[in-house]
Amino acid sequence: MATSTKYPSILMFGCPGSGKGTQGMVVGQLPNLVHLAMGDIFRGLDKESDIGKEFLSYSSKGQLVPDELTIRVFRHHVDALIEAGKIDLSYHMLILDGIPRTTQQVELLADVIDVKSVIHLMIDDKDALIARLSKRAKTSGRPDDADVKVIENRIEVYERETHPVLEAYPKKIIARVNADQPPLAVLRDIANCLVGVVSARI
Ligand code: ADP
Repeated sequence: MATSTKYPSILMFGCPGSGKGTQGMVVGQLPNLVHLAMGDIFRGLDKESDIGKEFLSYSSKGQLVPDELTIRVFRHHVDALIEAGKIDLSYHMLILDGIPRTTQQVELLADVIDVKSVIHLMIDDKDALIARLSKRAKTSGRPDDADVKVIENRIEVYERETHPVLEAYPKKIIARVNADQPPLAVLRDIANCLVGVVSARI
């Protein structure tokens, strides 16, 4: 794929419950940004389909879906949006939330996405994080958040498999944001990081 046809992307990066979905959704309301959350893409699959069943078999245990399948589903989803005219790569930038989540996914996406910036949402207070995820289980119908063991496993998987993804990108495009703040303060800090990156495209 030629450089010009890669998807221009901003990565929302952080552990489960760091707020990347909430913040990505808000930022994705801006006219030239499109929020794409890999978890939402998976949850949007027909639960009775083979892929839908396979997704549930992993997510219910707090495990990651295999890389090849994840990338196939992601590319299919984005290409369908491009085909339908909902994404125009000369205008839109993608806000990627939850992908790439392993170093193998970084490699599989290397000729597909052009990463302009990585927003690293940093959480220090792990106890507050687990409490927040448990609360989310009650309001958002997320079976993977209902069990503290599954939450702990997801945090472990993040530390082991996802955190190393940061090393794949140059330090100068990684912005660290304190995600232990109230959501509006986190949004302000993200906006400050993105001003130069996004306005350059309008
Ligand atoms: P969270 O960020 O709270 O962990 P997500 O909604 O991003 O939750 O993801 C839910 C589940 O979807 C994950 O636990 C995993 O099973 C699957 N998933 C999402 N993104 C990926 C990915 N990039 N690679 C593999 N599995 C993924």
